[in-house]
Amino acid sequence: MQARSTRNRKRSKRRQIFCPSHGCLVDSTSPKYPLYADQVEHLKQRGVGNKTARLVMANRTTVSLKGEWLEQFWCPECQNKYWYYIQETTPRCYTVSLAPVNLWQQVQGVILAQGNPSVGEFTRRQSKGVVYRGLSDV
Ligand SMILES: [Zn+2]
Repeated sequence: MQARSTRNRKRSKRRQIFCPSHGCLVDSTSPKYPLYADQVEHLKQRGVGNKTARLVMANRTTVSLKGEWLEQFWCPECQNKYWYYIQETTPRCYTVSLAPVNLWQQVQGVILAQGNPSVGEFTRRQSKGVVYRGLSDV
């Protein structure tokens, strides 16, 4: 039984990320933006004990959150691009939800490269890039 399920899983090498609204497969249109914790609260939200969380954050400014990132996807049903908050709960098993605005403050690349822009600015710039590429193909 175990061998069969392993073989089935190997048939598709593609990541299986589904639209939270439609359940259909969505295509990635951006790199992954890994998330980092920079507050004790961020760790506590993920089940780390209060004392441990304080100890960990005392020694550094940010802590990498393994298996969590923001990524933009195109949903063929919605005919739209969305930023999703992805959590890889177990290998190749993902929890997908629309990215809450406050999570952008935990994306390391954005903080370092842009010095804390508003989410609106960031997503506007991102989507512009995608539109230009699309137009040049026409
Ligand atoms: Zn959809």
